[in-house]
Amino acid sequence: METHEGQYIGGAWRPSAGRDVIEDVNPATEQVIATVPAGTAEDVDAAVAAARGAATTWGRSDRRTRLDALTRLRDGLAARREDIVRTVVAELGTPVRTAEAVQAGLPVAVASTYLEILADYPFEEQVGNSRVFAEPAGVVAALTPWNYPLHQIVAKVVPALAAGCTVVLKPAEDTPLVARIFAEVVDAAGLPPGTVNVISGRGAEAGAALASHPGVDLVSFTGSTAVGRQVAAAAGSNLARVALELGGKSANVILPGADLARAVKTGVSNAFLNGGQTCSAWTRMLVSEADLEQAVDLARQAAERFTPGDPADPATRLGPMVSARQRDRVRGCIEAGVAAGARLVTGGPEAPEKPGTGFYVRPTVFADATPEMSIAREEIFGPVLTLLSYADEDEALALANATDYGLAGGVWAADQDRAVAFARRMATGQVDINGAAFNPRAPFGGFKNSGIGRELGRHGLEEFLQPQSLQL
Ligand code: NAD
Repeated sequence: METHEGQYIGGAWRPSAGRDVIEDVNPATEQVIATVPAGTAEDVDAAVAAARGAATTWGRSDRRTRLDALTRLRDGLAARREDIVRTVVAELGTPVRTAEAVQAGLPVAVASTYLEILADYPFEEQVGNSRVFAEPAGVVAALTPWNYPLHQIVAKVVPALAAGCTVVLKPAEDTPLVARIFAEVVDAAGLPPGTVNVISGRGAEAGAALASHPGVDLVSFTGSTAVGRQVAAAAGSNLARVALELGGKSANVILPGADLARAVKTGVSNAFLNGGQTCSAWTRMLVSEADLEQAVDLARQAAERFTPGDPADPATRLGPMVSARQRDRVRGCIEAGVAAGARLVTGGPEAPEKPGTGFYVRPTVFADATPEMSIAREEIFGPVLTLLSYADEDEALALANATDYGLAGGVWAADQDRAVAFARRMATGQVDINGAAFNPRAPFGGFKNSGIGRELGRHGLEEFLQPQSLQL
């Protein structure tokens, strides 16, 4: 078992102000694999002071300096690929093939997109008789979740640095080791001390202290909608800006005439990616009444191929839930679906027979759900898919828009224009047409209760900028 004692503040590892620790548990073995300090408000004060101290120098650094530093950071992440994969498999339980592509590969790809954007971003433009400059927002508090831990860190810290901001990061307590790797890479990249600070700690203590800190100019939060509301309220009392990436209950809309077999198979894989612990997962599948029984059959077959197994085994597609708490929550949601009278197509709330140890949940599909049921409205964050049927396109649209969320979705149709026309009427930040690929340069973020602001690409950079205009 590893024991870590330091917090990364002002360019050095310093002892935490408190003595409390967080245990990092491997969800497949249920063993404690490491402890890290549970940071305190005092640690947060020191980190914010360090970030504030570094803000003027970094904020005035030129494009070349930032590009060089971010290139070293990106290359450092790429060089630690194997450690990152091993760590995320161990502390989160992501199946190793997915961990390679998404947990280790995507953050490097996202960092590369910011090198390209920064290379020619216009930080200055002429508007009539004004010269308008894009200035850094200042000191950024970054609060990140555990489900794509390194991606979510990179999607905040890299554009913040590109914009000239300094950062205090409080990563999720369930995945502290991959955040430490990030801090080590930052350290090796030789950024000026205080430019990036990383505090391990619990949300209610270190997280709350950071979100409400008067020395912070912008709070960038990814996590649950409930905590997002608290974070926004805390930041609001200091008039700090907020960027919120919150939950989802995304609809995969399969219109009549679409390639049903492909749409259902891709839809199940999307819903169960990373054990369904994905904010943008298509957890609702909308099919026409005429296609329903065939879709149910296809979804059952696809879901039953997600056999729970050891995440370190390359053949495994479904690992454990991140924690016992998350497993219990997901099982409770499945029980609620059964109690509400939805048809259980496959899976269920019982623990799978194998593996005997670990926080596993059966891959579960429901049909005949109504939009009022919790399985059709609430984010579950587990391998649970709900099928809903519609009579016509108007009803499909009403169902697609019938949740408080609006993060992501899919639309499938024989004719692309028809799918695009449908997607344009969805109150949803990002929609994939006929299974099109994820684009790390496209703005990512939600309508309605799925958030405020956007990450990734140029839009993600601009979250961390503020204009100054000089009239000439
Ligand atoms: P969470 O809201 O519990 O925690 C997120 C982060 O906030 C963690 O670092 C946590 O320690 C911290 N935190 C908790 N309470 C806090 C408080 N009172 N003040 C300040 N910080 C606090 O979320 P989670 O369980 O880690 O992640 C799962 C949720 O994240 C899901 O709802 C999911 O949809 C959402 N999510 C959204 C996106 C997106 O981009 N929209 C991406 C990934 C995850």
